[in-house]
Amino acid sequence: MTRTAQDERAGAQAAEGAIPWRRVVVKLSGEALMGEGPHGLDMPTLERIAADLSAAAALGVEVAVVVGGGNFFRGIAGADKGIERARADSIGMLATVMNALALEYAIEKEGRSARALSAVPMPSLCEPFSRQAALHHLGKGRVVVLAGGTGNPFFTTDTGAALRGAELSCDLIMKATQVDGVYSADPKRDPSATRYETLTHDEAIAKSLAVMDTAAFALARENRIPIIVFSIREPGAISAALQGRGRFSLVRP
Ligand code: UDP
Repeated sequence: MTRTAQDERAGAQAAEGAIPWRRVVVKLSGEALMGEGPHGLDMPTLERIAADLSAAAALGVEVAVVVGGGNFFRGIAGADKGIERARADSIGMLATVMNALALEYAIEKEGRSARALSAVPMPSLCEPFSRQAALHHLGKGRVVVLAGGTGNPFFTTDTGAALRGAELSCDLIMKATQVDGVYSADPKRDPSATRYETLTHDEAIAKSLAVMDTAAFALARENRIPIIVFSIREPGAISAALQGRGRFSLVRP
């Protein structure tokens, strides 16, 4: 599918500086896709997020999404049940492929072209990940859904997002969470917790603020990639944050 004239106009606006971001990677946890359910996929939630990703791409921003798998399976939970960790992580990576296929389908149903690329090659289901393929699809205005995290056990999809962010020269990582930013403490447990509008990577480390997991955060910091932390529970949150609207925290070098 080619970009519409509207997209081209939006792309021109983005290039003129109305939107400061040219290419972004969104980290979407598996939990974000299960809505209020206990596990798996909640269709209305999947459709809402797909619509938001599609709207973000229509702004003229190139959008890659690294999707997690925690709504189906996490390696650590498997290891706790006695499955060898590397094997359990393989199962976890497969869970991310299920989510990526569902998301690719839902984005295409929105009328936006999308491609799932997997770090774990399974060519009968989706394309294997390569930097060239990802950049090609992004350049065509497709939402690129990245499955399989880093493709290695003992990592998480947070690290996958930071890795792909660096590899694909993204100028922003968008970490979708259940809360609207980075807080001084867990706002669900501590009512006195305060939210940061902006902070630096160094401040987040010095204050032990859990923005992303440690390996992911170290990669983002080393490559000087800013991170927007926002709530995926708000409809339209991705496109709003890209335009500097809504509530979020910005972690910058
Ligand atoms: N995983 C992995 N390597 C990676 C990314 C993910 O082995 O590079 C496995 C790991 O078992 C993890 C699971 O896939 O628990 C699902 O990913 P994650 O926990 O990051 O999903 P989320 O919490 O974001 O839903």
